[in-house]
Amino acid sequence: MAVGVSDILQSAFLTQHPVKMLIKGQWVESASGKTFETFDPSSGRVLATVAEGGQEDIDRAVRAARKAFESGGWSRLTPSQRGRLLWKLADLIEQNADELALLESLDNGKPIRYARSIDIPQAADHFRYFAGWVTKLEGNTIPVSVPNMFTYTLREPLGVVGQIIPWNFPLQMAAWKLAPALACGNTVVLKPAEQTPLTALRLGELICEAGFPRGVVNIVPGFGDTAGATLAAHPDVDKIAFTGSTEVGKKILQASVGNLKKVTLELGGKSPNIIFPDADMKLAIRGAMNAIFFNQGQVCTAGSRLFVHTSIYDQVISELSKAASNMKIGAGADPATELGPLISPEQLERVKHYIELGRSEGAVPVTGGQRPEREQLPGYFIQPTVFDKVHDQMTIAREEIFGPVVVALPFDTIEEVTTRANRSMYGLAAGVWTTDVKKAHEVSAALKAGVVWINTYNVFDAAAPMGGYKQSGYGREMGHAVLDAYTQLKTVWVNLW
Ligand code: NAP
Ligand code: MG
Repeated sequence: MAVGVSDILQSAFLTQHPVKMLIKGQWVESASGKTFETFDPSSGRVLATVAEGGQEDIDRAVRAARKAFESGGWSRLTPSQRGRLLWKLADLIEQNADELALLESLDNGKPIRYARSIDIPQAADHFRYFAGWVTKLEGNTIPVSVPNMFTYTLREPLGVVGQIIPWNFPLQMAAWKLAPALACGNTVVLKPAEQTPLTALRLGELICEAGFPRGVVNIVPGFGDTAGATLAAHPDVDKIAFTGSTEVGKKILQASVGNLKKVTLELGGKSPNIIFPDADMKLAIRGAMNAIFFNQGQVCTAGSRLFVHTSIYDQVISELSKAASNMKIGAGADPATELGPLISPEQLERVKHYIELGRSEGAVPVTGGQRPEREQLPGYFIQPTVFDKVHDQMTIAREEIFGPVVVALPFDTIEEVTTRANRSMYGLAAGVWTTDVKKAHEVSAALKAGVVWINTYNVFDAAAPMGGYKQSGYGREMGHAVLDAYTQLKTVWVNLW
């Protein structure tokens, strides 16, 4: 039977006061007794009251994770047993997919059609992909030139991992972080974003139901500058995996200095999306829409700088603007919705500020640039916006807006466009639209970005690495590339003399 909004709102999970945190296999309130509220951004209504983790809760969670790592439960299981638990968790996510999708859509505002077809299945798939790796974390035997030595390597877990995630893909980000960390044998303290704690906590219930030993996964909701900062600086945490803004990423790195914990960072972007005149036009325009309007543009890889060849510029801008203005804006939980609200009043203010700044710098919105009618859409909505008459130096062409706002920029030559595309402090992703195979590879080779999509955009798979060049981050997530980020290598020398 399909799950409805009222089922979610009246569920035992949401009607707890407060929704509790998971520490050492127990659901507990915060040590301080503090709570915070999480909202539905399409209306501003309170969805739930959540326990607010602070320093003491993070301390308790780290101790639980340390104990589970050193003595316990997790390292004593065989790789096959650990793999099966990850697989079981994937099954449970699928069994509860309708509920998780609606919960995600309500807490974050994202259209249910995408939560149900992308966020939840991809989260399940992530656990399944990494369930397969648990039994395959092999070392090497090394043909050293020292006589009579047998030398081999072991791939060992790091220990206790702190994971701090953002609000744009709450369950998927939890899966991207937890699955590889657990597959490699680490234990975890996860801090979801304050705006969207619900699906991570519901995932915690499924983790308990799957039968993970106590303390292997601890989930502590709370604020960045308290719970997050404590976790980032904690002397008994061996690694921090962070996704969020470049600004906070730098703070995470500074906080790691105390015990030189390992750090991986998945940060912001201002990704170029380049349309050549020989592209399949229909495909390219649909792709440019998806690149910037998917998830209301609140995507780290958003194709927010749209470079279009001069010969097709007017046509592309006109068709893109028409398609943008036809998007169905509405509450995420409405199945017809294509563009939901932004996450919060702060994010709405931020996006509106950039739109005003764009106007004042001389750029012109061809479509959008306003809030839709307040009576019909009282939440934190903003129209999909396409800016024309933009120069590379304008603030809106340089800074990450993190909303449904794209700047269109004409270009003439390959060399010119790749040079301009690369002139950014970021280097997360890029898109190239052309039917010329040679050009596609030439341009993708020239782009300084961790991911390049050719004739597609915003496609992800658990097996395909993802991460940034330049100030878009350190390290890679997904694929076997991420295993290096959650293991360390031990070299063992045996004297066979
Ligand atoms: P953010 O501040 O970087 O938040 C990301 C995570 O870090 C959240 O869990 C946050 O907790 C936590 N955090 C904040 N300050 C911290 C600190 N000093 N120490 C440890 N953890 C800390 O991002 P945001 O404020 O949600 O969004 C701001 C901008 O970041 C966006 O407009 C966008 O440009 C960018 N962003 C990028 C991504 C991405 O995927 N690359 C995702 C989200 C946002 P709280 O949520 O509780 O504060
Ligand atoms: Mg919320």
